[in-house]
Amino acid sequence: MTARVLRRRSAAEHKLLEARLTAEYFDVLTSTNGPEAIEACKAGLCDIVLLDIMMPGMDGFEVCTRLKADPTTSHIPVVMVTALDQAADRVRGLDCGADDFLTKPVDEVALIARVKSLSRLKVTLDELRSRASTSARLGRSDPFVNASAADGHHGRVLLVDDRLASSDRIVASLRGNQTVDVETNPQEALFRAAENPYDLIIVSLGLSNYDGLRLCSQLRSLERTRALPILTIADMEDRPKILRGLDLGVNDYLVRPIDRNELIARVRTQVRRKRYAESLRNNVEQAIEMAVVDALTGLHNRRYFDMHLSTLLDQAAQGAKPLSLLVLDIDFFKKINDTYGHDAGDEILRALAGRIRRAVRSVDLVCRLGGEEFVIVMPETSIDVAGRVAERVRRAVEAEPFNVKEGQMAVPVTISIGIADRGSDANPDFIYKSADKALYESKATGRNKVTLAAA
Ligand code: GH3
Ligand code: MG
Ligand code: MG
Repeated sequence: MTARVLRRRSAAEHKLLEARLTAEYFDVLTSTNGPEAIEACKAGLCDIVLLDIMMPGMDGFEVCTRLKADPTTSHIPVVMVTALDQAADRVRGLDCGADDFLTKPVDEVALIARVKSLSRLKVTLDELRSRASTSARLGRSDPFVNASAADGHHGRVLLVDDRLASSDRIVASLRGNQTVDVETNPQEALFRAAENPYDLIIVSLGLSNYDGLRLCSQLRSLERTRALPILTIADMEDRPKILRGLDLGVNDYLVRPIDRNELIARVRTQVRRKRYAESLRNNVEQAIEMAVVDALTGLHNRRYFDMHLSTLLDQAAQGAKPLSLLVLDIDFFKKINDTYGHDAGDEILRALAGRIRRAVRSVDLVCRLGGEEFVIVMPETSIDVAGRVAERVRRAVEAEPFNVKEGQMAVPVTISIGIADRGSDANPDFIYKSADKALYESKATGRNKVTLAAA
């Protein structure tokens, strides 16, 4: 692990912290004031920031606020270092967008726990970031900017604890902030976590007759619960267990006796982080999907066709299977637009997409290339079979006029089709051009017909 940690601390504690982090294979970079720290983050030099509140000039709250407001640095985790007796500082730190906090004097387990957990989080976010830049290359807006800044309130929490006095206290502390379900049976807890949309699971490491870490490890290995944050609760003498949990992928821990404010803050942080990652993931997926789907018809677009045709041709060549490509164009569509209006034209395009889809198999790839031109790629289909399918599509269009303007008008529509097969040449350009030439032939010889490319 080579995470770079930026921190700003008094000289006295500085050396000790640096030694501990270096021992865990982190590279440490020190900055002596706020503006310098912000510059280092912008330059991409840090994976995690440890931030003191008391600094000359710009204080830690200000630095944190600025880092979180700038899209180029907002993804870098910030850990605030606060005095033990300053509970208000921690709350304010979280309000400024800090991802976590440590109290002075800094406890070694706590330090390693926070830094490990956050560098893991950053690996996840970095992966999503690189996928997001794919979507940016595809011309979509940055999902990172669109991901909602979740606040971490009103989450659903599953508490696994078989000591009634303990679970009662935790439930009471979180009341009003989070909805907490209590489960005393660890195996039942695993089942419930997999079946319900929890935002966090809190696992007591002091269960009677059961090792809570086993549950943590099971939660991490199940697909359904892999992304669910885990917070453990342990006694001070359980430090080795706490550390082992962190290695298993536990996100955070609390030591008994539990400080109410710290419990609230840590739960809130986990809920917020989980929601952020979730909304980011959805945004990335949506952005990528939007980039390859035609908004009017819901069919794949030209970009998708360009990306996938060569893959489908390669697959066909490898399996020595036929593949046919149809290019399809509405006859006299300009006149239809002129006669019935552009909106009616759009309705026809949408309905036509539906008719085409219903006339072909689900393995056939239907795309709208633009305007009133569509293609259908048919894997494992010879040109003769494709010719019969094309005839079926042509008839499906001709057979029934298209209802537009809420059924007030019925517009007769015909289409012309050209078909080519991959032959011995698996070149995407060639097969498309051959089919397009055949389409031109259909247009030139009367329209409303199907033409097969010459072999
Ligand atoms: P041909 O039989 O030779 O194909 O004649 P055509 O009129 O269909 O062909 P042309 O290429 O001259 O005109 C295509 C028309 O399609 C022109 C344009 O206004 C219309 N069109 C392109 N995209 C859209 C769209 O998204 N919606 C609507 N309503 N019309 C569109
Ligand atoms: Mg046309
Ligand atoms: Mg056209």
